[in-house]
Amino acid sequence: MKQLMIEKKPKQAQPTGKTRRFSATLMGYITADMLWEGGQTKTNETRPVYITLAGSAAALRPFLANFHSKGTRATRVDPNRSGWSKDSDWFRCLKSANYEAIWQRGVDNHIFSLHMDLGRAEWNETPLHVEKIASNNNLPLVVVSRPQGDLVQEIEDRMERLRGTGKPFWPSSAARYCTADQKRSQADKYYRKFDLIISAEGNRAEESPKRRKDDPVSVRKQITAKPLQNLPVDEALETWIAVNRLLDAGDDTAVASQYPQFTRYSADNRPRLAITWYPIHDWKLEDVWYACGTSASDLAMRQVMYQTALELEDSGGPEFDVERIKRKALDGWPAHPAYVYGNERLSCALCILANDNDLRNGARHQPDLAAHYIHLEEVGGATFKNGRSLTDILNGG
Ligand code: SF4
Repeated sequence: MKQLMIEKKPKQAQPTGKTRRFSATLMGYITADMLWEGGQTKTNETRPVYITLAGSAAALRPFLANFHSKGTRATRVDPNRSGWSKDSDWFRCLKSANYEAIWQRGVDNHIFSLHMDLGRAEWNETPLHVEKIASNNNLPLVVVSRPQGDLVQEIEDRMERLRGTGKPFWPSSAARYCTADQKRSQADKYYRKFDLIISAEGNRAEESPKRRKDDPVSVRKQITAKPLQNLPVDEALETWIAVNRLLDAGDDTAVASQYPQFTRYSADNRPRLAITWYPIHDWKLEDVWYACGTSASDLAMRQVMYQTALELEDSGGPEFDVERIKRKALDGWPAHPAYVYGNERLSCALCILANDNDLRNGARHQPDLAAHYIHLEEVGGATFKNGRSLTDILNGG
């Protein structure tokens, strides 16, 4: 159990440009009077601590860049910032926004990494990989999953339910229940434990035309209090902070007069604000590899080596040599092994949106899952993709 205390460094020149504010979840309650703002009465009462970052988008860029990358990119952006090695990796990034962070024992914190586990539909390597990322970043890992069953179970249940209706039971881009039920709903269920949530996610603009249009910071309406749902993010955050200050002070009268739409809320029933944040939305793929400590050319070399092992395997070469070459291709690779296997995207091992190359890779490495999906195609009478069976795709059709 840890507590984060955040102390703002002495004021620096105001950054120019459009100002954006980001605030992370409630970190805990402290009694440190040094955090009271000027003019306030210093007492030993406890008060909540939040991370709040303010500045122009340009000034915050190193922080955004660092959220997932433990400082590598910020060092590149601003080579004059050095000497961070003493700090915990967790909050190296705060340095770039002129904040300091001190961890203390005693109070729970709520910064965590969240993995939505899709069970048998995942790559076999994913659970271990997720644990490794969380541990390397010194972050607690929370794993959530759909209580009614994993994605394979959900597909089977849907097949039974729709039997005889002629409706397709596989998920598709038009009926993406896999993402909605297995990922988004499970994450939201967990997020409902908190009053303020910032869900930092790795979506990037160049991944698809749809993602290009996404706002990098948006209100997550489904789990946000109604009066905040349709406000711009900055305004929602400012309103949320102002209402909570009044609730902290027990000033229900002020809430009623200044924010009448919040009268149903109280100190025990606070309005929730959830923000979805894509900190690396504008990154190129090469930026991602750089932040992971690798590069596209390193990956390409590993892929060639791994492919050599597969060809040797296919031609009946010695198992010892096959395994040795595979190990060499993967040794020291920091990202998910599926990329070395040749995948262009990391998703479920067999994703309904994946290209043929990635599906063949997934099937080669998880033949039992592929065989089960082919069996479901046969007994359910519907192809894995609209008009294309998995069998045909795997056979190059
Ligand atoms: S990776 Fe593909 S199959 Fe898996 S949840 Fe996402 S869209 Fe659905």
